Amino acid sequence: MSSPHEYIIIAGCGRLGSFLARLLSSDNKSVVVVDKNEEAFNNLTEEFSGFLIGEDITEIDTLIRAKIDKADVFVAATNDDNTNIMVAEIAKKIYQVPKVIARLYEPTKQELYQQLDIDTICPTILSAIAFKEIILAEEE
Ligand code: AMP
Repeated sequence: MSSPHEYIIIAGCGRLGSFLARLLSSDNKSVVVVDKNEEAFNNLTEEFSGFLIGEDITEIDTLIRAKIDKADVFVAATNDDNTNIMVAEIAKKIYQVPKVIARLYEPTKQELYQQLDIDTICPTILSAIAFKEIILAEEE
């Protein structure tokens, strides 16, 4: 039986997207990374075996070139919340990608994504929780 989440598109190849791409690629997933700034691909190491597209993810042609209709997972990991929500919504509603996850800087927008059935990762919240855990552990 083929495992789900085999074909993964990552929008944004900066610090977050490139790290995730490397992790998934070393896990033998088929990964396509899209970044409008081709220099961002330097963040990937030689072991990365995926496909690269140096284009703007907000262009429909880019999504088509990335074969979004075949994607099992779409990750919106650009550094812009509005871009991420827009492309995540297109992936979910128009292309019916089964799993869509978006990076979200602004914690107050999380509810909006939940209404759209889009999973979010909010580094701001995760960082605050991690800081708190370290602070409380030091108190013990
Ligand atoms: P970082 O904040 O280091 O994870 O980097 C975010 C990445 O998202 C950068 O490499 C940007 O070039 C990329 N990015 C931002 N907007 C877009 C876009 N519209 N299409 C593709 N990549 C983008």
